[in-house]
Amino acid sequence: MSSPAGPPEAAGAQGAGGAGGGSASGDGASGDGASGDGAGGGRDAASLVVEDLVAGYGEVVALDQVTITAGAATITAVLGANGAGKTTLLRAISGMVRPRSGRVLLDGADRTGRSPEDMARAGIAHVPEGQGVIAELTVEENLRIGMMSWRGLAPRRADRAAALAEAYDRFGALADRRRKLASTLSGGERQMLVIARALVARPRVLLLDEPSLGLAPRIMTQVMDMVVRLSRENGITIVLVEQNARGALAIADRGVVLNLGRVVAAADAKTLATDVALRHHYLGFLAGAAQEDRAT
Ligand code: ATP
Repeated sequence: MSSPAGPPEAAGAQGAGGAGGGSASGDGASGDGASGDGAGGGRDAASLVVEDLVAGYGEVVALDQVTITAGAATITAVLGANGAGKTTLLRAISGMVRPRSGRVLLDGADRTGRSPEDMARAGIAHVPEGQGVIAELTVEENLRIGMMSWRGLAPRRADRAAALAEAYDRFGALADRRRKLASTLSGGERQMLVIARALVARPRVLLLDEPSLGLAPRIMTQVMDMVVRLSRENGITIVLVEQNARGALAIADRGVVLNLGRVVAAADAKTLATDVALRHHYLGFLAGAAQEDRAT
């Protein structure tokens, strides 16, 4: 995928940091309370706003004035070529990378610069790229690790059991393998396990970094279907980083395209998917493909 010298004049395209006035779907970012810290874990949908974020590594500026708005219970696809800054964006939201400037707002409450533990307690779960299961532990032990970041202190045994039951209900393949070592799982099952592990913490916002990477098309479809259900049925706000732009835009409400650390486009997913110039310059999938996807 080549990177042109400058952004195309794409529909919905905006300059770096220009999303602040955009018509993000479900712009429910107002509100001033840190409602995410309440008990009852993960049942109330949360909006996430990233405002003029600057972050990087040493001299590398990986994010340059990035603004995105993820409405409550929506799916926002974050797209772009290698090195665009997608992973850094998720790391900055989850507290793994400390922003140099800008803000991260959860339901309007400023969470900028908080630790990963604080962000997890506030309801943000991050599933990094690369299927990070602990191979030497069983499926169930991996899931129990997810509870360690539970909001609130000392979850009761009954709550833990309920969370496990919920996970097994959602991911039947994991239920069958609960006593097996994670090393024995297929790629798709491992991906399910890392997502399930994030979900037992009952997040309100789920950051997914390339969940379809390396999966067979059929399994990829299952993962994408599950992402849709998590948003639609469970009210989880999802930020989905994907190299598979076509697949991500097919399920997303909204999309953001990064290039060299800057937002070059932000619009509803359908608009991005049908934008020929944008696809050609940044997304690299074939003309007509997106329309066919959405027509089915
Ligand atoms: P990919 O799709 O290849 O994963 P990406 O869009 O997720 O790429 P990032 O991984 O966020 O992009 O990288 C953004 C920039 O930051 C790149 O220039 C990358 O080389 C640099 N970078 C990422 N991680 C580090 C690091 N740990 N130390 C130094 N530079 C880094």
